[in-house]
Amino acid sequence: MEKKSRLATLCVQAGYEPKNGEPRVLPIIQSTTFKYDNTEEMADLFDLKKEGYFYTRLQNPTNDAVARKIAALEGGVGAMLLSSGQAANFYAIFNICEAGDHFVTSNEIYGGTYNLFGVTLKKLGIECTFISQEASEEEISKAFRPNTKALFGETISNPGCQVLDIEKFARVAHAHGVPLIVDNTFPTPINCRPFEWGADIVTHSTTKYMDGHATQVGGCVVDSGNFDWEAHAEKFPGLCTPDASYHGLTYTKAFGKMAYMTKLVAQLMRDLGSIPSPHNAFLLNLGLETLHLRMLRHCENAQSVAEFLRNDSRVSWVHYSGLPDDKNYALAQKYLPKGSCGVIAFGLKGDRDTAIRFMDSLRMIAIVTHVADARTCVLHPASHTHRQLSDEQLREAGVAPDLIRLSVGIEDVEDILDDIRQALDKI
Ligand SMILES: *Cc1c(COP(=O)(O)O)cnc(C)c1O
Repeated sequence: MEKKSRLATLCVQAGYEPKNGEPRVLPIIQSTTFKYDNTEEMADLFDLKKEGYFYTRLQNPTNDAVARKIAALEGGVGAMLLSSGQAANFYAIFNICEAGDHFVTSNEIYGGTYNLFGVTLKKLGIECTFISQEASEEEISKAFRPNTKALFGETISNPGCQVLDIEKFARVAHAHGVPLIVDNTFPTPINCRPFEWGADIVTHSTTKYMDGHATQVGGCVVDSGNFDWEAHAEKFPGLCTPDASYHGLTYTKAFGKMAYMTKLVAQLMRDLGSIPSPHNAFLLNLGLETLHLRMLRHCENAQSVAEFLRNDSRVSWVHYSGLPDDKNYALAQKYLPKGSCGVIAFGLKGDRDTAIRFMDSLRMIAIVTHVADARTCVLHPASHTHRQLSDEQLREAGVAPDLIRLSVGIEDVEDILDDIRQALDKI
């Protein structure tokens, strides 16, 4: 595979290159283990002296091929698949933060990530400060402490559909000697490649558009290889000082640009074990092969639906960054010139029950706890995904109580509009 191949070609071809006589399609290596002829070869693998497979919790050829494809799409030096997007965000932070550390995050993030960061990581002794991503660089800087190890945001927030000013975030992070971690789930690398704007690490819930058919739950962490850990060695002892669990090996010295990824696999995956099954990686790969085509259609359809909703008198507000009067329009023109994604957030005039009546009247569009699927679907975050959050936390996370999250699929847009029209008529 040519390194400079274009995105559509990478979607179809990257990651797996069969040799003469090998299967054309990525094989599912559904094996926990791999056989060796002598003890020394196996020992070298355990010491990280040689590359090779020995146990699927650490590495598996099917999973690795799909990770290589995602790394190629994002323009990173390496990637690792995980069993969920939640695991991906946990590993991305936990790889550089330990008890007593702190990080800064936008408050415009997915509800599951908000809980992970604000509640569960706190129990592990890792604190975070939530900030508004619209704040100035000076304001955001005030949240940083001597023990701050990362800055985090979502390219397009779920479910609020706010667009992150990645360059601004990268400047603030780098001014404080820490990496910027960006969850790029919604735009996918087809519509935005955060590394090109200064992000250092990218995470994904591959459950969403990358799979696109709602068949597997998965995650991915990708490293740009750009962050200079050694330049801030005192902040990142886990990467820059010897690892007792690997005979005193130092990741930055032994692996250079692959230090962060190697630690993620060799230490966190070894000890925590959130691997996807090779069969799930195979399904994810099928999704990735058409990602470039689907994203185009998701965006086209969502643009038409957003314009329709914008002009309907029963709709009180619409957030879709492709609408010229949306407050994120300018940011989207800069970071997402080809389109954002298929997700629209909107509210109806009336009360909470109006939203419920609208959703219950839909025929083709299904109420599901999912988003970014080929099939159009809808969710009311305040009563579903975000129900653990208080009203104040809801507002902080950019989720109005009347917010309806519509995930526009790739059906014929006229059928999607027909269904929305008939449901609006019933409220
Ligand atoms: C869904 C989602 C997650 C969590 O991913 P799972 O695969 O459901 O664990 C994280 N971030 C974003 C932006 C998401 O949409």
